[in-house]
Amino acid sequence: MEMRLYDTLSRETLPLYAADGKRLRMYACGPTVYGPAHIGNFRTFSLLDVLRRTMEIAGLNPLYVRNITDVDDKTIKGSAKDGTSLYEFTRKWTEKFHADCALLDLIVPDVEPRATEHIPEQVAIVEKLLASGHAYVGGDGSVYYRVACFCEYGKLSHFHPEELQTQDTNSAGKANSADEYDREQVADFALWKARKDEDGAVHWPGPRNPDTGLAIEGRPGWHLECSAMSIKYLGESFDLHAGGEDLCFPHHENEIAQSEAATGKPFSRHWMHCVHLLAEGKKMSKSLGNFYTLADLVAQGYDARAVKYLLISSSYRSQLNFTVANLKGAESALKKLDKGINSLLAKAGIGREEFESEAIARADAADALGTPFGPAIAALFDDMNTAASLGALWNALRDDSSASRAALSALKTVLYALGIQPIPSKDEELGADEAPEEVVSLAQKRWEAKQARDWGAADTLRKQLAELGWTILDRKDGWSLKKG
Ligand code: AMP
Ligand code: ZN
Repeated sequence: MEMRLYDTLSRETLPLYAADGKRLRMYACGPTVYGPAHIGNFRTFSLLDVLRRTMEIAGLNPLYVRNITDVDDKTIKGSAKDGTSLYEFTRKWTEKFHADCALLDLIVPDVEPRATEHIPEQVAIVEKLLASGHAYVGGDGSVYYRVACFCEYGKLSHFHPEELQTQDTNSAGKANSADEYDREQVADFALWKARKDEDGAVHWPGPRNPDTGLAIEGRPGWHLECSAMSIKYLGESFDLHAGGEDLCFPHHENEIAQSEAATGKPFSRHWMHCVHLLAEGKKMSKSLGNFYTLADLVAQGYDARAVKYLLISSSYRSQLNFTVANLKGAESALKKLDKGINSLLAKAGIGREEFESEAIARADAADALGTPFGPAIAALFDDMNTAASLGALWNALRDDSSASRAALSALKTVLYALGIQPIPSKDEELGADEAPEEVVSLAQKRWEAKQARDWGAADTLRKQLAELGWTILDRKDGWSLKKG
């Protein structure tokens, strides 16, 4: 069974494949690191993680590149406000982003290039475009892309050329921060921004001005970095490009225009866009008070796994509304999932540790499809319908024939594809310094009773702990505790 995905460019649901027959080359626009990413950003990144995982299961051997935008107006402003260098400022927020990704169990991309580390590649594209007449130096010394020279402009976002001349919102309806610079036409966009005082120390010797032969000091325009880095790591033509829906226009449209004009080849073959997350029914914004970060939610006691479950609970092509009530719902769904799996394991006579171990290997797609968990995989292969996949997972958990080793292997495949680890991991076990004193002292006494082979006392102490709502877990050289 092949994996199919809707393509924004052709407006068709098409099979995914690796053109080189080896690896499916995929590029995703990554975060702009000027503050904490919000859960809307993480909806897109979590869905792309499911895509990457599903492609692996489908045997497409993905090569996943996701960039870090570490130079733009927001990062420059933020670092100036912080009184730190752009480098220090963006490193700090990149680390935070990575920590959040780890909490959400997102697979680290194969390559995570930074814009500031690819300036020569960006300059080379601008010089090519200047030489071919696709770009010009504007009145302010910045270099602009001449949209009128690229007759296919608009093919991704399906805008008509006349609409584009007045288009001042992006594909998610947000106002574009139109450059105030001297452009020939409104739709022309900056490839390279001439140095300004506000940029402080952020500038590089840029492309050569064809008229003067001198390098234009400044910094890259935002769209350019993705063309330069995707081409560098994936080649001039590659298989799939993804991002949130707001990026379709103008960002991705501009990426296509500048890349195809520079290389003369088709850029990405297939385009995927994730519909935006709403929060409390509205666009997420700090002023509306519905702006959530993962750290906010974890600090309020919510489990990152529940946030992830909620974020992928509707298909990437449908809107999802984040509310605290929905998050609570996701938490209880996860608890039920844990229970459902436990009772399935009990029916199959397989312990949790065995299930987690290599003894139950993850099934490959063909084997998984023939089990009660097959529909959960099939839903992901069919335009990555995560909502239908979760529904099918629930159905299979209720199915008596799911208690076979083959079905449990398929269950592992589904959980891997969705990136949901329903079984409490060791991270959730608490050490002596995190549980109340009384509980710690009972646990220690039980350990000592066990060491003294006083099984009766050990058992009584375990029951006392259970009454207080704690489970004691035996380790090789001691114990740990778990709530519940
Ligand atoms: P940014 O850090 O703003 O460049 O965005 C990183 C990614 O998050 C991009 O793919 C955006 O399209 C995506 N994104 C931004 N806001 C949302 C949202 N509310 N829901 C889903 N994705 C979003
Ligand atoms: Zn991009």
